[in-house]
Order: sequence, then structure tokens, then C-alpha cells
Amino acid sequence: MNFHTLLDRYRVDDGKRFRLKDRDPADCAGLSIEKREAKQMLAEGVERLSKLQEVLYAQDRWSVLTIFQAMDAAGKDSAIKHVMSGINPQGCQVHAFKAPSTEELDHDFLWRTTRALPERGRIGIFNRSYYEEVLVVRVHPELLERQQLPPDLVSPRIWGHRFNAIRAHEQHLAESGCLVLKFFLHLSKEEQRRRFLDRLNDPEKLWKFSLGDVAERRHWEAYQEAYQDAIRETAAPHAPWFVVPADQKWFSRLVVMAAVVDGLESLKMTYPTVSPETRAAYEKARTELEQE
Ligand code: ATP
Ligand code: MG
Repeated sequence: MNFHTLLDRYRVDDGKRFRLKDRDPADCAGLSIEKREAKQMLAEGVERLSKLQEVLYAQDRWSVLTIFQAMDAAGKDSAIKHVMSGINPQGCQVHAFKAPSTEELDHDFLWRTTRALPERGRIGIFNRSYYEEVLVVRVHPELLERQQLPPDLVSPRIWGHRFNAIRAHEQHLAESGCLVLKFFLHLSKEEQRRRFLDRLNDPEKLWKFSLGDVAERRHWEAYQEAYQDAIRETAAPHAPWFVVPADQKWFSRLVVMAAVVDGLESLKMTYPTVSPETRAAYEKARTELEQE
């Protein structure tokens, strides 16, 4: 199986008919980590990505923004770690977005992430993003009250306004040479329960456990609805969502890796070439160095 056909199952670039319930968090596309094919695909992804990143950097025209969204314990951190394992840290910028600070709340909701957008030639990784503004804030509308918005702007219409803003923002990014790839790591409720228990039972994982995560779990259905809506409203050919089955960590890493490789390949990048004059000057330099 090649990356492109694998991705067909998980890419959403038109949200109209998207239903989260149709997606199986345990799906592995018939692959198994016990078999050679899956292991080879994982290794191949790391290698291809590292070459592509070099051209991205050398060409210095495009930037890549990858966005990771998920319920707690879905494996955002480990997916990010795996994707990064193949790339030069200098060409990569990771940002994690937690609950906003007072300064951040004093600005519009796209401000803090806009400042963190990747430069040309770089791969930016957002561990959570402006999508939290239509996810956690939608599940807990009381968070809106802390946002200091003029009261007239705070109505049920605010979610539609936010989706408009996000669509326009991502359109603008695409038209500015930023490839936007969005990942929803789709975990099942049962697998989340297992992972939480695992954290509680293993002293080396206990640090990852948080009571707040269990509190959020109680809003599972509301989150699933908010995720479905966000994907429906913002999936586009220039800013696709990948709904990545996340019950098997190795498989979610493979899909994420494949999507980044496939996205970079779609840019058809080439190393910069030099003009005939520069080439002639380089030839002179070569002769000089050779004769030293
Ligand atoms: P990990 O748990 O693996 O460290 P995490 O991304 O869950 O990673 P936490 O510090 O646990 O990090 O959680 C960050 C919290 O911040 C999440 O609950 C998230 O919903 C919340 N958050 C992020 N952005 C916003 C926002 N714009 N408004 C309100 N809450 C937000
Ligand atoms: Mg957390």
C-alpha cells in the first residue's frame, strides 16, 4: 500500500457529509504492526520526510503548518515526537497552546497562534491551536465570559463567526504559501479509559495523569459533537482534516507521517538553481580551490 492510497481513507477535504460516527478509532487499514509492510512504511516515512524537509528549507518558498487536536491521552505528543524524529530540529517549530493568558485574552482569538506561524522553509507544529476556541470553549461557554468580548458579540452566532474567521484565515495562509494540514487523533472512549488507568497504575506514567482530564471526559459526547462540527465547517482542499484512528498508536503515527510526506510531495519542490552568471563565478571558485 502506498501513502496516497492509505490517506484516501482518512482525508476529509469536504465536510458536508462528514460524520464522526462513521469512523472507527480502531481501524488499521488492514495493516498490522507485526508484519513487515507496516514497519517498512513507518521507516520509509521518516526517511522521505527528512529529504523533503531539506528541499523545503533550501527552496525557502513554502511553509507547512501541522495542527494536532485530540481528546486527552489520544497520543498527540507521541505522534509529534515520531514525526519530528526524521527531521532537522532547526527547520521545525513546535508550539503547545494551553489555556490562554491574560495578555492573550486581551486580543482576538487568532492572535496568539498567528504570532507562532512557521516561517517559509519551516515546518510548524501546533499542539492544540485556535480550534480550541470552537472546541473546549464551545463545550464550556462560560470560558467566553473571560474573553472580555463586548456583550453584543457574545451570542449563539459566535460559533458561526468563528468558523468564518477560521476558514478565511486558512484560505489566506494557503494563498500565502503555507500548506495547512490538520489532524484529529480519533480515540475511542474505552481506549481513553484504558490509557487513564494505565497512567494511574504505572508510577512512571503517573505524572501524565490529571484529574482535569477525567472531568473533561464527562463531556465526551459534547466534545465529539464539537469536533464533528469543526471538521464539517472547516475541511477544505487547501486545508484538509485527517481523521486519524488513534486507538493503535503505531497506526496513528503512520497516518500522520504519510500525510505530511504526501503534503510535502504535492508541493513539487525543487532545489534552487543558479543563474548562468553565478554558475560561471562558481566555476572560477572551483578552479581557484583546486589549484591551491
Ligand atoms: P498533555 O496533557 O499531554 O500535557 P495537553 O495539550 O492536554 O497535553 P494540558 O496542559 O493538559 O495540555 O491542557 C491544556 C488545556 O488547555 C486543555 O484542556 C485545552 O482544552 C486548554 N486550552 C487550550 N486552548 C484553550 C483556549 N483557547 N481556551 C480555553 N482553554 C484552552
Ligand atoms: Mg492534558
